[in-house]
Amino acid sequence: MISVEDALSIILQETPVLECEKKNILSCLNKVLAGDIYSKDNLPPFDKSAMDGYAIKSYDTNLCKDGVLAEFEIIGLIKAGDFSSEELKNGQAFKIMTGAPLPNGADAVIQIENIHVNDGKLYAHEKVKSGNNVIKFGEEIKVGEVALTKGTVIRPTEIGVLASLGYSSIRVHRAPTISLLITGDELVDINSELKMGKIRNSNEYSLMALIKNLGAEVLSFGIVEDNKDTLKIKVEEALEKSDIVITSGGASVGDFDFVEQVLKEINADIKFKSVAIKPGKPISFAVIGKKLFFSLPGNPLSAITTFEEFVKPACEKMLGKEVICDDTFQVILSDDFKAKEGRRKYIYVKIKNIDRRFYAYKLGSQSSNHLMTMSKANGIIIMPEGVGHKKAGDILNGKFIFK
Ligand code: AMP
Ligand code: MG
Repeated sequence: MISVEDALSIILQETPVLECEKKNILSCLNKVLAGDIYSKDNLPPFDKSAMDGYAIKSYDTNLCKDGVLAEFEIIGLIKAGDFSSEELKNGQAFKIMTGAPLPNGADAVIQIENIHVNDGKLYAHEKVKSGNNVIKFGEEIKVGEVALTKGTVIRPTEIGVLASLGYSSIRVHRAPTISLLITGDELVDINSELKMGKIRNSNEYSLMALIKNLGAEVLSFGIVEDNKDTLKIKVEEALEKSDIVITSGGASVGDFDFVEQVLKEINADIKFKSVAIKPGKPISFAVIGKKLFFSLPGNPLSAITTFEEFVKPACEKMLGKEVICDDTFQVILSDDFKAKEGRRKYIYVKIKNIDRRFYAYKLGSQSSNHLMTMSKANGIIIMPEGVGHKKAGDILNGKFIFK
């Protein structure tokens, strides 16, 4: 049995960053940019008005003070999307809308609140500075400047930046395809009634959801019977079609747990067979060529916990993301917490932020069968190896789950 840290470092050592491909920008959400993106345009491409108001020469307002007004002749209107080629002269003003290009000769926009119009003439009440309410040509970015750097994770903001620069597709790291094989003769699909001895297959659905959440592609083989030869055929097919293969269940040493035997028969390089974590101890990890294989325990909490702790970081590395191995923070316990000493224990809790301090509240049973408890939880607290008891008021590390 190895520690969580050692397991993670072995996994990441074996995990490749996947190659790059060109994709439509909307398909790049949460993916990682393969190279720098340069601006093809100056933004904004012209001096533009930041306000609805009047474009003027700021110089013309120099004498405005103590009730002295500056008078202008209004010579036209420029709305957003239009422009005027007429040169503005001293004493003249263009009515101008937000986003419209300034006419030549204007260097400021005076806002509606600081003027009045009488008899077709505009009167300014206050002196304005050059550049007032003007967004300057190229102020945001200039042609040839780097807009986004290689390694940037594409968020909705970056998709907006790419659209504004005229990029409809970009190169990003390919997302891994993850195959899912669900073992267990006790399992029936979600539309089936529960006959004696049977339970519904929840892992296939929760794991598919976790995979989709990461932006990876999922290829589900559904329920595979507890038979070594059938499992071997499916595992070989899955290895051919994907970057990562996950099995659920069949991971222990029961009479019908065949995953390890199959791994040996296909000459997989088994890197570890159990980790000091609760829930999730029987997780094993193997490498077959460039493909990664995770054998997750069948208990729903164990399957989900080990996916989050071990499969997710591998998937993030493949996507080209920086893997943050420790995203915990200090949590104050609101209740007493007990757990068996020994392995590191992940206790599913409700974390509340009260006056900018995080507090952990106890939920129901932490048995690795009880998905209902996990469903009420928004976080975990981590009881370290060898510690079995913490009191209300004590502090443990914790984190939010499924972010
Ligand atoms: P195993 O790891 O195959 O020994 O399974 C451990 C426990 O998890 C057993 O109680 C199984 O019934 C349960 N289990 C296994 N696979 C699933 C699944 N796909 N969905 C829900 N529960 C499962
Ligand atoms: Mg089983």
